[in-house]
Amino acid sequence: MRLSTLLTPNFDETLSSWLFRCSLNRHIIKFTRLELAERPLHWWEGLEFRSADPDVDFFSASQRLGEGREDINPEWLSVYFGLRNGTAVEWSYRRFFCPDCLRNDVANGHLPIWRKSWCYSHSCICSMHKKELVALSDASRYSKAWDAFVQECNSVSRSNAAEDPWFSRFRSTTLMKIEHFLTGSRASRRYVVVDLFNKLFCIFLQAPFHGGRGGSARIHFQTERGMRLSDQTSFEQSIFKGASIADPPSRFGSMIFAASLLDIIPYSRFLMFIEACEDAKIGLLIPRDLHRAAAFPYVDGAGYRALHRYLGGFPRKDFPLLDRHLQLQEVRYAREGVLGLHLFGTVLD
Ligand SMILES: [Zn+2]
Repeated sequence: MRLSTLLTPNFDETLSSWLFRCSLNRHIIKFTRLELAERPLHWWEGLEFRSADPDVDFFSASQRLGEGREDINPEWLSVYFGLRNGTAVEWSYRRFFCPDCLRNDVANGHLPIWRKSWCYSHSCICSMHKKELVALSDASRYSKAWDAFVQECNSVSRSNAAEDPWFSRFRSTTLMKIEHFLTGSRASRRYVVVDLFNKLFCIFLQAPFHGGRGGSARIHFQTERGMRLSDQTSFEQSIFKGASIADPPSRFGSMIFAASLLDIIPYSRFLMFIEACEDAKIGLLIPRDLHRAAAFPYVDGAGYRALHRYLGGFPRKDFPLLDRHLQLQEVRYAREGVLGLHLFGTVLD
């Protein structure tokens, strides 16, 4: 496909990043440029800040292109720029990036590029450099890749601190094992396993709700402090939103919990992870018992019913470790007087 004198997008580039780069290129003509500090349309919905999503607004993007570029229509843009590799978080939460990728962009003579692979709720490392993604403080502008580059240049951030090479390797091999397992399972079983994995991942990252501290991975591994979060409007919402607003260390911790409970990775890997976390952060105490470390959130009766509904029906006996885990949670919920009529995994008619 000829791009009719527009810039060639990077294979992993978001639509908004490409539009911004095209806007700043003075050789491109017949193109409705974005302003330098432009933000997408945004508004308040009650207490919640909402924003349009320029990464999937293929129609508006196509309207910026002038005469002679009719072949670059919304369908073509959607095929090229669509976010299809997982659950994309909302635009304003697409704020984690890899500084090395941005430095490479500039070294290669072009403006920094924002990657699609950074935009998902499971994104925690750069697939190229294997480093943990870093947070951009204000990711509301089209220029976020440029803003991130400037932020990195102007700060002695932790991204410059050398990470333990053993831990980096451990993290990327763990993520690879999980991905291979999830994509390689037998088709008949894959749906159940992937679905359970994603649900557990979200439960362990639950956003703080009604004074609670949220999911266990968030409690143990979240390193970002002082982020202002509006309280979620419902228990369900706190589960759906949790992974989007979680930082990369807690996302990785949550994957370890979910993968261990589903026997995707051996228990020894869970223990290695806990030891590595304790070595890295003095004073951090995480139970070495998976069932205690990955305890489900505190709930009331309505919360239990929501959690039960969310997990849905599945054959518990096929997942012995998870089955045991759920039994322990049920015992605890019974003790706390919130256990509902139905146990986890049973389908209601
Ligand atoms: Zn990178």
